[in-house]
Formats: sequence, C-alpha cells, structure tokens
Amino acid sequence: MNSELEKPMTSLKGIGQRRAEVYEKVGVKTVYDLLCYYPRDYLDLTVTTPVSDAQLNEQCVIKVSIVKKLPEARIRKGLSVFKAVATDGTADVTIVIYNSSYAFAQLQLDNEYYMIGKITGTFIRKEINSPLVFPGNTAEKLQPVYRLTEGLTQHMLRQTIRGALAQCRQFIFEPLPQQIRRENELCAEEYAINNIHFPKDSHGFELAKKRLVFDELLVLQLAMSVMRRRSREYTGYRLKPADMQPFYDSLPFELTNCQKRAALECIEDMQKQFPMNRLVQGDVGSGKTAIAAAAAYFVFKNGCQCALMAPTEVLAAQHYETLKGFLEPLGVKTALLTGALSLKDKQNVRQGIENGEYDVVVGTHALVQQSTAFKNLALVITDEQHRFGVKQRAALAQKGSCPHKLVMSATPIPRTLAMMIYGDLDISVLDELPKGRQPINTYAVTGKLRERAYNYVIKHLEQGRQGYVVCPMIDESDAELKDVKTYTETLKKGALRDYRIGLLHGRLASEKKEKIMADFKAHKIDLLVSTTVVEVGVDVPNATIMVIENADRFGLSQLHQLRGRVGRGQYKSDCVLITDNVNETTKKRLKILSSTTDGFAISEEDLKLRGPGDFFGDRQHGLPKLKIADMSQDMGVLRLAQKVSKQITDDDPLLEKPENKGLKELVERLFADGLTDN
Ligand code: ADP
Ligand code: MG
Repeated sequence: MNSELEKPMTSLKGIGQRRAEVYEKVGVKTVYDLLCYYPRDYLDLTVTTPVSDAQLNEQCVIKVSIVKKLPEARIRKGLSVFKAVATDGTADVTIVIYNSSYAFAQLQLDNEYYMIGKITGTFIRKEINSPLVFPGNTAEKLQPVYRLTEGLTQHMLRQTIRGALAQCRQFIFEPLPQQIRRENELCAEEYAINNIHFPKDSHGFELAKKRLVFDELLVLQLAMSVMRRRSREYTGYRLKPADMQPFYDSLPFELTNCQKRAALECIEDMQKQFPMNRLVQGDVGSGKTAIAAAAAYFVFKNGCQCALMAPTEVLAAQHYETLKGFLEPLGVKTALLTGALSLKDKQNVRQGIENGEYDVVVGTHALVQQSTAFKNLALVITDEQHRFGVKQRAALAQKGSCPHKLVMSATPIPRTLAMMIYGDLDISVLDELPKGRQPINTYAVTGKLRERAYNYVIKHLEQGRQGYVVCPMIDESDAELKDVKTYTETLKKGALRDYRIGLLHGRLASEKKEKIMADFKAHKIDLLVSTTVVEVGVDVPNATIMVIENADRFGLSQLHQLRGRVGRGQYKSDCVLITDNVNETTKKRLKILSSTTDGFAISEEDLKLRGPGDFFGDRQHGLPKLKIADMSQDMGVLRLAQKVSKQITDDDPLLEKPENKGLKELVERLFADGLTDN
C-alpha cells in the first residue's frame, strides 16, 4: 500500500492531535482508515417534500429559497438564534439556526437551497431546526451520512473526507487484477471509493457499492482459504483402510444415501496425510450421530482414540448412551466425562483415557479444556459447533499430534453462507431424512386456545406417547424461573394432573438434569416442561407433541430446532406454537414454519427476515464485523466473490504471485486485525 495512505490522520490539512483522537474513537487512525469509513446511509436530494405536505416531527428534505433574514436574537449569554423565512411556493417555513452566525451568513436572499432536518413548530407556522444545507444547484444528489461520535459532525466528516480524497486519491491502490475486474464488471477501486462517499449519481453509487461489497467478501473468503492451507500440518494419525462392515451390519437401521456418503468422506479424509477438517451439516433428525459413530469406529479399528464433545451435559450424556449402544457390542470401550462425576470417578476415567483403556470418550467441552491426556487421540468430534467461532476451532487443533476434526452442526444455513462461515472446513451435507419420517404438523395459535392445545397433548399422551412444553426464558433470572415453576405447578394441578410431569431448566445441577433426561427417555416422565435446554440435539423418538409458549420470542431456525425434538420416530407428530403477539411479521414468520419442514429453506427465510446479526445472534459465527457487505442482502455478490476466490486460490493457493500482491496485503490486514476475533 502506498505510504501516503498509511499516514496518520494528522497528516491531513485541518486535523490536529485533538481531532485525530476523536477519529480514533471510531477506529480511524490513518488516511486509509478514513477512506474506508463508509457512509452508513445517504440522503437523497431528488426526493423532496413540498413544505405544505411536510409533517410535523418528521425528517424531511425540502427545496426552498430564502425570502427574508431576521435579525439575530440573543436568548441569553452564549445562546443566539438566527432565523430566516423561506418558501418553495407551496408554503413558508422558518429556518432556525442556533449560535452559528457563519452558517447563517451562508444563506443568500433569493437563492435556492436543499435543507434536511426535522420539521417542528405548528402546522401553520412550520420551522426547520439547524438543517443540513446544500446549494440548490448541488450536482451530488446523494449526500453521505456517517456514523458519528461525540466531537464529530456530519459536516466535519464530509469536509475531512473530501479533503482526504483531494489529497490522496491518486494513491488509492487497485488490489484486483485487471482481468478479474473486466470479467466481473467491477469498477476501479479509486472510482469506488470516491463514489461511495460522494456518489456522482445513483448509477455511480451502485457501481461503487458492488465493488466494495465484492472486495470485502472476496478478501474474507480468501482469508478463510489461506487460513485453511496454512493450518495444514501433517497429521500424526494417517489412518489405514479398515473393514467397516461389522459397524454397518450392527446398526438398527440402514443409513440413508447421504449418511453413507458423509461417512465415506470422513473415512477417506482420515487416510490422507493432512488432518481431516470436516463439517457435517444436516437438518435436525437427519442422523448426524450415526456419522460420528462411523468415524469413531474407523478410528477404533486403527487402534486409536476418539473424543466427542457436546455443548451441554444433557447432550453429552445422550451421545454417550447412543455411541455406547452402537459401539460397545463391537468391542469399543466408551467413557463419559462430565462435571457430574465425582472427583474420584473423574480421576479414574482420566486414568483410563491416559493409559488407553477407553477408545471413545464423550464429554462436555471442559473435557478438552482441562488437561485430559490421551494415549493416542486421532479424532476430535464436536457437536453443534455453530456456537463456536473460527478461533475455538483453531484452539482444538492444538491438542495432540494434529488429530482429525469432525464438526457436526444442526443449524442448516444457506450454502453460500456456510462456505464463508465454515470456509476453513470441508462440508458434507445431509439433505435427506431417514425413511419413514412423517412431516410434523405445525399450528400457530393464540393463548385463547391454550386449553385446546393441552387437550391435544392429552390425546398424544393417552396413546402412550410423550411430549414437551417449551417455555422460553431470556436470562433464567429468579423471576422468570418462578414463572416456569408456577406454570408447571398449574399444569400438574390442572389440565394434566393425571400425567407425570418433569421440569428441566438451565439452573438445575447437572446430575439433576441428567436424571430428568434419563427419566424422560425411560418414559418415567410423560411430559417435560423445559426452558430452551432441550433445544439442541435431545433425541427421544417416542415424543410426538410439542407446545411452544411465547413462540414469537424465538428465531425461525431456533423454532425449527426445537420442533425437531419431535417427529424423530415412526409416529405422527404435532407442534403447537402459542403466541399472543399477532403482528404481521410474527404471523408471516410462524406461517413459514407451518408451511415447510425444510431447515435450509427456513434458514434462508430467517436470514432474509432478520438480517445476519440476529440470525447468528451475538456474532456466533466468529467472523469479523463487515463494513459494507450484508451477507443476507448481498447474496449475488457473495456468490461472485466466492467464484472469484476459488479461481484465484486454485491457481495461487497462498497468494504468492505478483498480480495477487494487493489482495494478499488486504488478507494480511484482516489477519492482523484478528480475523477470528469476536
Ligand atoms: P441429528 O442429526 O438431529 O443429530 P440424530 O443423530 O439424533 O439426529 O438421529 C435422529 C434419530 O434418527 C435417532 O433416533 C437415530 O437413531 C435415528 N436415525 C438416524 N439415522 C437413521 C436412519 N438411516 N434410518 C432410521 N433412523 C435413523
Ligand atoms: Mg444431534
């Protein structure tokens, strides 16, 4: 990058130390940072409101000429008001400016101006307060609006950026090879930066936006690709082919085609000299655990150990049961390591892991975080990895001699997004459910029909099935917990008094949780009232009815996950969503859920409706904050960037060729800023 661009803000005319410190607060340290401080929005001067139509208390763009300037009025010491009367022919408006004699002096009688601001006063005497003012002959009809902080104004930013562009535009470098720009109809970088701040017109803006969104996504995708190549150390566990038939023969069902393919992909990966780095992505109930079991068995046949980590104790216990069921008959020794074990038991299990007595170890994440030593850990499987960022994945890789890694995610996300978020992984998709599954009927109702919903529950329980009632809680505070407890008591005494009801929530001690889950699995409990701890992965095929209270509090994908707890066996299942929030968006969202059970379709809708921020919640994906691109809106450009990224890295995996120098620099910058930083 040209050194002019790397200069500190103080190198710009009019920016002193104090001002530079203000800019630093918004992350702008150098001239280049400033040029990349893109507007958060634009004011469109082509869309003006006639003064007569302007509504009180609304932000408007008006175009008026000055009729009369009134004398300065001093309200008190240090506060002066300047007023002028202006008109656009439809009505008059009084312009009110506080304290700035300079701004007031700029307004010339009879001249036309665009003014942007909030309309106040009364309907017959409208005022506009401290408006943003542009000459009526302004060529730039889209005016940038920047994110501000104390000490910065829109006006200052515009001036400073204009100055910076004048001073430095010839130094703006072009990271993209000419060829790629031409093929993908992308404007020049210099044009893009100029037009994103001060669009020539809407076409100029569109071109600029496309180019900068493209840059941002391309660099991110390239970074993922480079990271993946770089992290490729040789594995200490290059495994040998093994006979998998005993495993397949002993399964209680036949694997679906996509399960077979995914298992095979894992087995092939583990025979390569580089560690496997694979994500199995599948809708709820698609049977990911069987893939984990297959991979674990393969590792066992190679005389090595495998660890499976789950996000909660409940899930760890469940996976342990499942894997034990599948694998122990084949001679595989399985252990469970969770916080629920006594100190002594933990020690024993750890001992067994260290001396190789156990082949498969299932546990919560604490398992690897704490200093559990393995004899020969060849495979680390993580369930529901979508909760973790790229960084955590990288940390796991540190364990042992580069073990193979398998990640299971039940959050179906659109493929393009998966390529970005899991860009450092290979992906196997399970896009087919096991045979015989019946779609879950889903109904959205208001609280008025709660009694009927309970009758529905009873119908299922009468046939020997089981069910869930899910009560969302925001923070599991005492007050909220009390609500759920009261709710459960009411059920026990009222509509469902003839049934065995259990309550599961996040604040229970882990032994207690495990006990309740075990009781539910063993059908000692008919109905499980639960906060969202059941969300991920709980598998009880006999459960066929779910009622979700306050359903509007959840994202669609989350509801889909929850609903996936039923419909896991051969019985017809139902899901009732209760909400008293009946606004249009809620209705629309819940309708999507009633109309499809395809998790990928649902996630795409969810992403569209909520935007990526909410979709992932708290930036769980672990990617850096995007400056201009929006992965839910800019799908077309995202695909383009992915295509180009692949073209580039197929030819030059580590970006070492001279024509990719600019891109490499941007990728390095991203790494330096902490690609994996949440
Ligand atoms: P998820 O992908 O949601 O983790 P699980 O691995 O928990 O799904 O599997 C869901 C249920 O489907 C389990 O009860 C499992 O035994 C069963 N299952 C998995 N694969 C098959 C299959 N190929 N045929 C029939 N049932 C299957
Ligand atoms: Mg699962």
